[in-house]
Amino acid sequence: MFNFFKDKFKKVLSKFSKEVEEEIEEAPRPEEIKEKPVEEKKKEVKEEPKKEKAKEKKEIKEELKEEKKKVSEPKKVEEAKEKPKEEKREVEELKEEPKEEEKEVKEELVEEEHEKKKGFFQKITEVISKKALSEKQFDNLFFELEVVLMENNVAVEVIEKIKQNLKQELVEKPILRRKVKDIIIETLKKSLDELFDVDKINLVEKAKEKKPFIICFVGINGSGKTTTIAKICKLLQKNNLKCVLAAADTFRAASIEQLQLHADKLGVRMIKHDYGSDSAAVAYDTIKYAQAKKQDVVLIDTAGRLHSNINLMDEVKKLVRVAKPDLTLFIGESITGNDCVEQAKKFNEIVGIDGIILTKSDVDEKGGAAISVSYVTKKPILYLGTGQEYDDLREFDPELIISGIGL
Ligand code: GDP
Repeated sequence: MFNFFKDKFKKVLSKFSKEVEEEIEEAPRPEEIKEKPVEEKKKEVKEEPKKEKAKEKKEIKEELKEEKKKVSEPKKVEEAKEKPKEEKREVEELKEEPKEEEKEVKEELVEEEHEKKKGFFQKITEVISKKALSEKQFDNLFFELEVVLMENNVAVEVIEKIKQNLKQELVEKPILRRKVKDIIIETLKKSLDELFDVDKINLVEKAKEKKPFIICFVGINGSGKTTTIAKICKLLQKNNLKCVLAAADTFRAASIEQLQLHADKLGVRMIKHDYGSDSAAVAYDTIKYAQAKKQDVVLIDTAGRLHSNINLMDEVKKLVRVAKPDLTLFIGESITGNDCVEQAKKFNEIVGIDGIILTKSDVDEKGGAAISVSYVTKKPILYLGTGQEYDDLREFDPELIISGIGL
């Protein structure tokens, strides 16, 4: 699975990363925004007040000289005698002033450094933000990635989710160029994880919860329903659970014989009616048989019908109403991509499904259905069909998808 997807996705993803990197003008890293060294700053802050203080002092000294001159005038002898003392004091005070000033200057310096520090980080954020990727740039760059996802049958809803997640991380965000690739990969991984964030079902464990446990298989013709029923029967048998099959596809020619072949091979009983008979009645009889014969699990095959055929869908609805399955599983062909997702959606709306099995994943080079179907239906994928043999059934693990597309 994913061979085609993986190759193309890898190329376009790498191109996308590079283009985003190019669009983001390299924002200066914190260590690159070089501020003047602290020493220089100190000098600046210290020097200026010093100069000013010196100027002030000079002015005051001049004034004092003037005063002295006045004092030495004859008519103010008395005053003149007193004044020098006062002046002396003033001069003394002036001598002491620098200490006070220095203290003030130091305080100013600390405050200023603090302010500058705050401004420094604000500045980084601003500079980086200013150079971030715009939404328009992002949309342009994402386009090619969008095309690859579409080509590989990824559902529109899923593409939109991936786009929004990436947008959230890349647009108008302060990102360093060297981090772009990591952010993209991490966001994609996270998005894929979220696609499978639905309650999981452990079929084997669940089948042990009730007796008989009833499983109904729905899906269109040729999707691999009959084969999958046989695979599940084998799996349950391996887990010591006795199964009985209901040939409730009374519509398609040869469907009863086909299921009978599997029943014979697996050594299990199959309950059937004639073609054209009421499928709900077949299901009902099979459940009664299972109850009487203490069978563990009833596996009901249904007529494969197009989800758009309302009459036939009504028949499946009736069967589900009568049989009251403990689990209704949608069987879809992985290779049909978006069609498969649409079918699952419709079956869920009309009949109500609990989980999904995707068949033919061994021949699916794209994998879009596997990526999308859970997210669109909010139902888990239980298994992937990986071939035509009974053991070709692989338990689904989202990791398969993430590593499958090379993330
Ligand atoms: P139904 O009409 O839905 O019951 O479909 P069938 O069970 O008859 O399957 C249709 C064809 O698909 C058969 O030839 C199966 O062997 C084949 N098939 C079913 N499941 C898988 C699978 O997982 N991988 C491959 N390669 N073929 C499968």
